[in-house]
Amino acid sequence: MRISEKCGVIASLSFKGDNVFYDLYWGLVALNHRGHESYGITLFKNSNGKFESFKGLGLISHLTFEKVREVAGSMTGYKGVGHVRYATSSGSSKKTLKADIQPQIVGRGNSKIVVAYNGNIIDFSTLKEELKSRGFIFRGASDSEVLAYKLVEGLIDTGDLVESVSKVMEEVDGAYSVVGMTGEGSIFTFRDPNGIRPLALGLDYETKFMVASESVALDINRVPYLRSVKPGELIIASTRDVEYYKLRSSTEERLCAFEYAYFARPDSKLQTGRYVYEVRIELGRHLARRGREIASRIDVVVPVPLTAIDAAYGFHEETGIPIEPIIVRNRYVIERAFIMPSRKREEVISKKYNMLRDKLWGKRVALIDDSIVRGDTLKSIVRSLKSAGAREVHVFSTFPKITSPCFYGVDMTSYCELIGFKRDDEEIASIIGADTVTYQKISDFYNSIGCNMLCLGCVTGDYPTPKAQYYARKGLEVECGD
Ligand code: 5GP
Ligand code: MG
Repeated sequence: MRISEKCGVIASLSFKGDNVFYDLYWGLVALNHRGHESYGITLFKNSNGKFESFKGLGLISHLTFEKVREVAGSMTGYKGVGHVRYATSSGSSKKTLKADIQPQIVGRGNSKIVVAYNGNIIDFSTLKEELKSRGFIFRGASDSEVLAYKLVEGLIDTGDLVESVSKVMEEVDGAYSVVGMTGEGSIFTFRDPNGIRPLALGLDYETKFMVASESVALDINRVPYLRSVKPGELIIASTRDVEYYKLRSSTEERLCAFEYAYFARPDSKLQTGRYVYEVRIELGRHLARRGREIASRIDVVVPVPLTAIDAAYGFHEETGIPIEPIIVRNRYVIERAFIMPSRKREEVISKKYNMLRDKLWGKRVALIDDSIVRGDTLKSIVRSLKSAGAREVHVFSTFPKITSPCFYGVDMTSYCELIGFKRDDEEIASIIGADTVTYQKISDFYNSIGCNMLCLGCVTGDYPTPKAQYYARKGLEVECGD
């Protein structure tokens, strides 16, 4: 089964020669929501010019402090990169998961390279075959190795990192926010020409250069957030200087809109200087305005925890209707319903959420969730609300209606699994058992963020790269079963 990646990355370089192990560790803890499957830290050991890694399966935040201290005591380097990985398919063996832990170290001699990335490469199997035919030997199943060898191929051919990254940007279609190190220990980072996945740049000229998937990883390390790495930009940092290369300047950023609704932490800043939290509050306010007529008949605003809580608060602020935490999420149910087959998902979802049932009798509820993908979460929750006596349940989704697949790392890869595909709002409401469903309007989404530099392919069917557009068209040829 195909694994797509929506991971977290970090790189740190200390200009003063301090050990960066703890920067990377804490940064990854801050980014842990972006990857539960595995973690990895690779440092450049200045004493012998070698790379040294610490890797494992599971959550990095589950490591004991004793363990972290022990590892920190034995690993030192003033530059390094780290990664947490979110494999969205459950079909992988432990062996493959282990082989796919990032950062990946590949190549030899002058073309040795360390790579960690967040994103998804479209057509990675074709690229992999091409690279195999050139003699590259693959150990794992993920596209990170493909990207790494693609860079090595460029280094062998041109002997120049800038040219190899430029070649990747020309030839590799997809989303990639990359951090890495060269064999000499320079840190580099780049983002695909559309900037589909986020990448925050932090810089303190006296002390530190740092990049990470989200600004929260800079905050935890007290490194000031400067800006995002630009789409098509490559940055190379060494202790001597930081070099910026604009390799692709024609495109404008198309950051994944789902980052705002679901992935990113509320305390991160992605594009405009607004916290994701502020955007989510606005998303809730906009929903309330659009659904004013329905909202006028509501008794209580109820968020689906946790992601939708901020938007529900915005909805409450806009309407003045009381908000109550009627749905309680048990954080110890850690089975990941989202990647399970549908029947099993329902069981896990019903274990994950409990209701303050006594507070629901006769109530007209505005139920706020961040997104509706297959509709399983809401189906289960609406059923529980109604069985507890809720008179009406009106669903509001902070994300617009998802009608097309994602090719850039979000686990929604076919039309037929999407409840929004070829269905109008009334049909969707009827399937999930709600009285009405109201989706965010695209224009309101833009207004909430303060810009329109987004990828909304899963909503509009308009993708920023040609291969995604090609597969989107091809996917439409498949007939959906019942
Ligand atoms: P659905 O149940 O409609 O298929 O998915 C929507 C629900 O799953 C929402 O409550 C949302 O918070 C959550 N969700 C959306 N995308 C993802 C994802 O990529 N991973 C996980 N774990 N949950 C997701
Ligand atoms: Mg949710």
